[in-house]
Amino acid sequence: MRIAAATNNLNKITEIQHIMIASGLENTAIVSPKSLNIISDPDENSDTLEGNARIKAISLFEKTGIPSFADDTGLFVEELSGKPGVRSARFASENANDSDNRKLLLKLLEGKTNRKAYFETVICFISDNEEKYFSGRCTGFINSTERGSNGFGYDSIFIPDGYNETFAELAPNIKNKISHRYNAIIGFTEWLKSL
Ligand code: IMP
Repeated sequence: MRIAAATNNLNKITEIQHIMIASGLENTAIVSPKSLNIISDPDENSDTLEGNARIKAISLFEKTGIPSFADDTGLFVEELSGKPGVRSARFASENANDSDNRKLLLKLLEGKTNRKAYFETVICFISDNEEKYFSGRCTGFINSTERGSNGFGYDSIFIPDGYNETFAELAPNIKNKISHRYNAIIGFTEWLKSL
């Protein structure tokens, strides 16, 4: 079986493929839009992770005809009533980079004692006869300073429950076994295996 992933990030595709193989799903190849000579960049204008994942998966499915999936992730901070949430990538501004977003979040939490937060990833899979959703969560809290140099996004300020290190201080193979994305991919993989 061949499925298309709504990302051209080869690291992401390799990571997903590894998790699938390690979980016993060996007959499924993941292909990128680029490898199919397709550009799919729809407006992610939904106010939910499910909605944005669906927009990306449907757009890719319509262009390729291949069963397609997309993921969408957000960081939800309790003290901020769930912000940045679905707007995590554009938290500081429409063209914000990861550093701008982290700085704004640390500023908003200055002096706050409730620093609980979680990452959530939703995967949407679309084919001719299926529309399925899988989600994964990783709970933890926001550190008061940036620490570590691995990873991306909010990794250097997020400490997962059960650890003292930020995601950016943990080795990637540890992060990748406890992360929101890992948990969502495992659910997706188990479902694919049951087909
Ligand atoms: P996307 O849905 O993967 O594009 O991610 C949305 C936002 O969440 C972006 O700002 C990413 O940098 C951030 N993000 C997604 N996954 C992670 C992660 O594993 N660690 C830290 N930040 C992440």
